[in-house]
Amino acid sequence: VDYDVYIGAVKEHYNNVVTYVGEYIGAATSSAGNSGEVYWEEPFYDEETVSRLVETLNTPLFPESDVNKTSTQQCFKDNLKLYRDTLKEKIDEPQVAGLVRASSAAGGGSDNPVAATILSLVRNEDLEEMIASVMEVERAFNSKFAYPYTFLNDAEFTQEFQDAIRAALPAGRKVQFGTIAPEDWSVPESIDLERFKASMQHLEDEGVAYATRESYHNMCRYFSRGFYHHPLLREYKYTWRLEPGVKFFCEVDYDVFRFMADQGKVYGYVLNLYDNLQSVESLWRDTREWLEDHTQYLSEGGAFDWVRENMQKPENFATTGGYSTCHFWTNFEIASLDWLRSEPYEAYMDFLESMGGFYYERWGDAPVRSLALALFADRSQIHWFRDIGYSHFPYINCPNSDRCDKRCSPAEFVPWDNLEVENCQATWIRYAMTQEERDLY
Ligand code: GDP
Ligand code: MN
Repeated sequence: VDYDVYIGAVKEHYNNVVTYVGEYIGAATSSAGNSGEVYWEEPFYDEETVSRLVETLNTPLFPESDVNKTSTQQCFKDNLKLYRDTLKEKIDEPQVAGLVRASSAAGGGSDNPVAATILSLVRNEDLEEMIASVMEVERAFNSKFAYPYTFLNDAEFTQEFQDAIRAALPAGRKVQFGTIAPEDWSVPESIDLERFKASMQHLEDEGVAYATRESYHNMCRYFSRGFYHHPLLREYKYTWRLEPGVKFFCEVDYDVFRFMADQGKVYGYVLNLYDNLQSVESLWRDTREWLEDHTQYLSEGGAFDWVRENMQKPENFATTGGYSTCHFWTNFEIASLDWLRSEPYEAYMDFLESMGGFYYERWGDAPVRSLALALFADRSQIHWFRDIGYSHFPYINCPNSDRCDKRCSPAEFVPWDNLEVENCQATWIRYAMTQEERDLY
């Protein structure tokens, strides 16, 4: 792309943006009006605790002298086996008392609903794939529980889009359509556009997907730090993120939001992957430096071993300066908005924003969210929904359960063998999963 053309496009973008402003009530910087539970209180760590936590984070899980081609291959083999054995176990639904069912009253709904919404960020042109996803999640879960939908977009939703979504859903179902405040979806003024352009080109040359798509950078930034302040989400405590073109293979007969709330979970995921290391090359180094002055945010029960794992893909760990790049794949996520709106997460987001890595690199919302969770949450607050059969191309979570249809086969992860190594779930199972979580199914 010619530089002048690029700058012209950016300027035009800003011009367009200005004409929008007044229409918006809130932006990422304003958290007024949230009355969430308090998810964080400053701990009373003594110096010894602080240095133990910091030292753990700064130490590779395996001594570097033990990491070589043979040990790495053996680790991958063992991990693949653990993954497959785990997913081949016959399961049903979480074995906890008090799962909440759908009401038998006319119109259904949860017997004890939570303030929660299914959330999609989507473009008008992705209507067809969006409807397909809505039908999937309705069939598997939401036709019984009748949770509302919220659709967000950086542009206005067309009437056609809104009508088609409404027509796909039962009458009376609450559906909201919202636009994103321009300041939450544009390159911030603090970003040096020349450096941004050069970085995009550099990442593109390295083969990083979407590196030169400005909108993709905006999207990653929005899902990291913006969305949970959208005015339409203010009334909610949880969101279930739904992308166009995904599939749900298994029936879910309990209220998953109620499960999250009752079990004290702040985050639910299904897929756990290694990342493209070039997209986050500086993320961990920056984070680690910031943490030195913010040790009060570290959780003693954090998933540190998952962050510092260095055996299955040691090159990722080496390139990032100490981060495995393991992350929850955020295209499916059930997230506590109160947790995202809590001080540690917000402070971390402000810091990341100040570093510019959403633009100078291509920091994804997945590694960003995952690091925050691993560092600030207790690992018991994070739940692997093993029972939610799910696919977002090309990866699959497929349990062995009578509740699942035959579109996936148990323990299947990806159609191509050479991508099996991208699976980080075994590391989670081995090093981060609590006994209670293991015994849940
Ligand atoms: P991928 O899964 O990483 O390949 O990225 P996607 O293209 O699926 O984007 C992630 C999510 O953001 C999806 O829900 C998309 O619909 C949404 N998204 C991505 N770019 C844009 C955009 O420019 N505008 C809007 N409104 N949504 C976007
Ligand atoms: Mn996607």
